[in-house]
Amino acid sequence: MSIPSSITEQLRSTQPTVSIEFFPPKTEEGARQILKTAHALKDYGIAFASITYGAGGSTRERTIEYGELLNQFFGYNIVPHLTCVGHSRDELAGIIDKLAGAGFSGIMALRGDPPKGESSFTPHANGLPHASDLVSLIRERCGKKLAIGVAGYPENHPESPDMGTDMRWLSHKVAQGADFITTQLFFDNADYFSFVNRCNKAGITVPILPGILPLSSLEQARKFSAFGKTRLPEELESRLAACAGDSQLSHDTGVEWAFEQVRDLLAQGAPGFHLYILNRAESALALFARLQKEGILKQPA
Ligand SMILES: Cc1cc2nc3c(=O)[nH]c(=O)nc-3n(C[C@H](O)[C@H](O)[C@H](O)COP(=O)(O)OP(=O)(O)OC[C@H]3O[C@@H](n4cnc5c(N)ncnc54)[C@H](O)[C@@H]3O)c2cc1C
Repeated sequence: MSIPSSITEQLRSTQPTVSIEFFPPKTEEGARQILKTAHALKDYGIAFASITYGAGGSTRERTIEYGELLNQFFGYNIVPHLTCVGHSRDELAGIIDKLAGAGFSGIMALRGDPPKGESSFTPHANGLPHASDLVSLIRERCGKKLAIGVAGYPENHPESPDMGTDMRWLSHKVAQGADFITTQLFFDNADYFSFVNRCNKAGITVPILPGILPLSSLEQARKFSAFGKTRLPEELESRLAACAGDSQLSHDTGVEWAFEQVRDLLAQGAPGFHLYILNRAESALALFARLQKEGILKQPA
């Protein structure tokens, strides 16, 4: 599949937009792993790869470093994440200028999670309290040069008192200039469709990329469900429970669930999907193969 140069153009095209998410490695083994994965997935028509931004410390620089590497060596369009955590407005402005100068395709603008050991988010004294403020700052610095993505929560952001309040703030975030929304992972498509419905009612018209995580075990399913406050459907839980102790079967079951999710999402009009790959290629490759076999995705070039 040929990829239009602009992410926003791709998102509006009739072809499904596939994006993948990396995190910056912390060890040498992790560094080998991310490069191996990037190599393995590079010919699959991936519209862009996003790279997460850590809560603090040296991994933050690695977001940019690996973004440049993955772009230069494997040709990925890169969308680094950026968060408000621990940065003043001036520092954020400097980072945005650096990202724009590095030739990245966009920025995923986030408020960020509190650093380890802190239970709630406290903005920097001269910083930005919400992702919407970061979206405005990026637009102010870069105009339309970069695509801006923001996070959406089909099952509600954990800090939001109710879905209506969360939707009002999401709407505000988009109004500040976001081009697309990538969702938190979810395992029941009904949650995505009802979220899209609420977005439509709120007047949000930007593409909403559903976040998909192919699971590899029941233990992992429970961990991510607790972490992301994401509902685990009973059927998925029982399918994974039935293959406990058999890691290959658990992996295949997780991929099959992700396949069923993606097939249904695309059939019902989702603009593509965003894969949480956890820096590994195996599940993504198995999922792509399954989607290609059904004619849902094109074969790699
Ligand atoms: C696709 C995706 C990628 C992510 N990547 C990262 C990453 O790389 N690094 C990282 O640390 N975290 C990441 N996160 C996690 C994210 O940082 C957390 O979920 C964080 O708690 C909220 O970030 P946000 O950008 O959604 O914040 P916001 O949009 O600012 O929302 C946070 C909360 O504040 C409310 N709110 C928003 N605006 C206002 C306002 N003006 N007034 C009052 N309330 C308001 C919202 O309803 C919500 O409850 C990611 C999440 C997703 C879904």
